[in-house]
Amino acid sequence: MYQEGYTGASEPIENADALLLRMGSSAQILLNSNNRYLSRDSFSIAHELGHYCLPGHNQSQYYCNVREIFSFQSSNQKEREANRFAAELLMPTSWLKNIVKTSDVSLSLIKSIAEACQTSLTATAIKIIGICPDRVGIVCSEDGIIKWTAKAKSFPYELRTGRVDESSPVVDFFETGDLPEGSAQVPSFFWISSPGTHEFINEESVSMPYLNAVLTVLTLPFDEDDDDEWLDGDSW
Ligand SMILES: [Zn+2]
Repeated sequence: MYQEGYTGASEPIENADALLLRMGSSAQILLNSNNRYLSRDSFSIAHELGHYCLPGHNQSQYYCNVREIFSFQSSNQKEREANRFAAELLMPTSWLKNIVKTSDVSLSLIKSIAEACQTSLTATAIKIIGICPDRVGIVCSEDGIIKWTAKAKSFPYELRTGRVDESSPVVDFFETGDLPEGSAQVPSFFWISSPGTHEFINEESVSMPYLNAVLTVLTLPFDEDDDDEWLDGDSW
């Protein structure tokens, strides 16, 4: 159980990984010291600050679990709002835009930004594809099932749902616990519903063992016929 009056450190807490306790005009944020998943404490703290600051988040207590904080798949709108708040606090859009304008989005870029900002890989990937000019999709698989997908505005295809294709390297992680490192070019149908003109797609994945999940970053091979017209859109 958490210890009342204790502020600014990790404590064993039941039924939550991070929580916000409002007490009059002040509040406490507590992190669960039993939670081995909280390697990114900053994001969890920023998430709770979101509950404290955002309009409509009026509960006196918020008990938040790591899957909702890290996976971005919560069905609860308030949890999604707190995640967006945390992502913006730790990775300001104007700062991030300058980075993705001059760097191709890749898993290593996502990792380095996550490291620099002390954010989760999923939060970082979602934030980046929301503002980057590259044709990038991300897929989060859990227990061999595609749990959720997201894509940049310029990514032209619909991403698949359901079971991860059995020929995908990602399946290795769920069967053996090992995941091949590095980028691989794989048949597009592994991840895309109707691949269109791109027969192959670049796939790069990282495992998140604490969630039994894999985050996959998908990019399209360079195509000389492609143009940059969309860059003139209003997203910048
Ligand atoms: Zn929350």
